[in-house]
Amino acid sequence: MCGIIGIYQKNLKLKTASKLAVLGLFAEQHRGQESCGIVYYDGTQLQLIKKMGLVKEVFHEDKLRDMRSHVAIGHVRYPTKGSSDIQNAQPHVLNNLSGAQYALASNGDLVNYKELRSDLKKKNVLFESGNDGELILKYIVYKHEKDGLSIIDSIKSVMKSFKGSFSTVLLVKDEFYAFRDPHGNRPFIFGEIDDETYVFASESCCIDIMKASFVKEVAPAEILHISNDGLTSYKLNPNEYRTQDKTAHCVFELIYFSRPDSVVYEHSVYSFRESLGKQLAKEETIIPDIVVPVPDSSNFIALGYAREMNVEFSLALIRNHYVGRTFIAPEQTIRDENVVQKFNPLPGYLEGKVVTLIDDSIVRGTTLQKIVKIVRSHGAKEVHVRIGSPMVKYPCFYGIDTPTYEELIANQKKVEDIAKYLKADSLRYLEVEELKNLVKDKKNFCFACFDGNYPICLKE
Ligand code: SF4
Repeated sequence: MCGIIGIYQKNLKLKTASKLAVLGLFAEQHRGQESCGIVYYDGTQLQLIKKMGLVKEVFHEDKLRDMRSHVAIGHVRYPTKGSSDIQNAQPHVLNNLSGAQYALASNGDLVNYKELRSDLKKKNVLFESGNDGELILKYIVYKHEKDGLSIIDSIKSVMKSFKGSFSTVLLVKDEFYAFRDPHGNRPFIFGEIDDETYVFASESCCIDIMKASFVKEVAPAEILHISNDGLTSYKLNPNEYRTQDKTAHCVFELIYFSRPDSVVYEHSVYSFRESLGKQLAKEETIIPDIVVPVPDSSNFIALGYAREMNVEFSLALIRNHYVGRTFIAPEQTIRDENVVQKFNPLPGYLEGKVVTLIDDSIVRGTTLQKIVKIVRSHGAKEVHVRIGSPMVKYPCFYGIDTPTYEELIANQKKVEDIAKYLKADSLRYLEVEELKNLVKDKKNFCFACFDGNYPICLKE
């Protein structure tokens, strides 16, 4: 999971694309906190700024004033492929000796990355990173410059050859392209500001803060090209490019990744999360004194649960927002330290209470185990854990950092053994079928981490 942004201003006099791109990245910060960057066109050439760290640390108001441009792309990174360093930060830029310039930022993961990369290496293409975005960029440039294909045909070739997930923005000098993988695995929003500025983003919350209106989602296997001549959409038939006759939207975007104020795959994220909680409450036998979310991603699940149960909803655990998201911190040791620094209960509030603790999911279980311990140590009489999604039994190969079966506690243990590991009085998950029945069109979603049915293809 990462976040991308793309801005193209039809009104060339505006030249605020870099500023809007940074604003958009700021709204997408939850999608990746390791590094961030933008590329903008300064009237002559593409300029790159990327660094390790948060958007607010990398971009300052005074710098933005000098970055005047009508076109820009940007990226926030959550590492999946490639190590945690600046080489793997996006966007990637390619400056050719001929003077041609290209830049690309992508969100997703490629299943056949190794095979494609080694094919290109055999053709003497050099790589600086271990990152999917660089591979997509270098593949397109190779097809365009060496095989003589147009940029559109080069992107069509990406659609054909690349298996996995890619919501992508590309600049060829100041010409702009946006394209999405044939399965539509990650969200990709297209909006417009005052009929003057086109905006592309991973989530609708980004276009909201720019006061842009929602136009549509970039369709699976769609390519949008914007230049001085206007906007052209190339809608390819996705079935010619994918392994199964269906899209594969990541359902985890609705459960955890996306911001609650976003609309993703035509679902309001916050109300979807409320519906998870309501569904979970329907089979409930334990009536607690209070329902407490693990903040913030579980807040709306807990709210739905508490409302359905008619029990007090309590924000009894306070989250320190200045510690990174635990699920997406790259190393386990960093995750462990973060948990203790991150959550602190209201003093005296939990004393003697039967608590139902709500979390959105259990991946490794280490974070939740520590949270249960914190809640107990502050006097809770009983701690019951309820999870607003099914058991995560299978790894994701399309952009999420759960690389091995062994790391997933639900792949290794039964529910009752997980409850013992967590030291919870009881534990219950949502069932897979219950989750499937809550999305609008279940055949067009990916549920692979819950049911093991991989809709794109398996790891190479
Ligand atoms: S395997 Fe899970 S996390 Fe990965 S794309 Fe599918 S639903 Fe999303």
